[in-house]
Amino acid sequence: DADLFLNYQVSQFGQGEYLVVVRDVSRVQKLEQMRKDFIGNVSHELRTPLTVVRGYLETMSDNSDSLPPVWQKAIGQMESQSKRMTLLIEDLLTLTRLETEDTDYKQTDVDVTALLNLIKTDATGLSGEDGHQVVVDIQHPITLKGVYEELRSCLSNLAFNAIRYSPPGSDIILRARITDEEAIIEVQDHGIGIDAHHIPRLTERFYRVEKSRSLDTGGTGLGLAIVKHVLAHHQGQLRIESRINQGSTFACVFPISRIVDSTASSLPGTE
Ligand code: ADP
Repeated sequence: DADLFLNYQVSQFGQGEYLVVVRDVSRVQKLEQMRKDFIGNVSHELRTPLTVVRGYLETMSDNSDSLPPVWQKAIGQMESQSKRMTLLIEDLLTLTRLETEDTDYKQTDVDVTALLNLIKTDATGLSGEDGHQVVVDIQHPITLKGVYEELRSCLSNLAFNAIRYSPPGSDIILRARITDEEAIIEVQDHGIGIDAHHIPRLTERFYRVEKSRSLDTGGTGLGLAIVKHVLAHHQGQLRIESRINQGSTFACVFPISRIVDSTASSLPGTE
């Protein structure tokens, strides 16, 4: 039966005696699937009306010179809020896709240096003039077997967070390095930092360290949830190190087997 999901647990009692508990979790699985489908469908359905509203707002904004200032202000607010809603819907759709689609077939060889340079350009653009110093630090060139769009979205989210949560003028480092067992791509900032007790919960949807402040930064609250899913698709994990007022490092850690053509001579300790 394709719809039957079973969970089992085996415990051993003394010599040769076992207890096997089998649970039918089909209902839980089905509800979970319905939840994912629902979020995906709602997000999709919201996209069209929102595009129409944004279109009209843009027209109004282009012709607002003759309107009273209070109207101009209202139109500006509506534009920025509808833009935020669009970002939220896009992130919800990305998350649904990550949860439901099997993207293994989309794996290619991803040149991490080129990808980090691209992220640097995007992040510098977001930061604006007199903004952050975004630096790419390739300690070891890496070509990773993975889904390009997913990895791009994962690293963009980390880089954009680094910008949002650190002061203008500070350094942001996009680094690639390897150890004997791991390929690491990390984003380091010298920003506000995160208190240790928040760290285990950061990848939950809509979890925010400080709600009011985070809402002003333009994030959707879904960035790190997306990062977590992308890494799970790549047998990777997220490691977070952070100190209040000193900064944070978000490291995407992959097993070394994910590196393409990792000939022995290119690994550390073998030169
Ligand atoms: P958001 O869209 O709110 O940034 P995320 O899922 O990307 O949502 O991040 C969750 C929360 O983690 C943020 O609201 C913020 O409080 C905290 N956070 C993420 N990245 C950083 C960082 N580089 N420095 C400090 N806090 C961060």
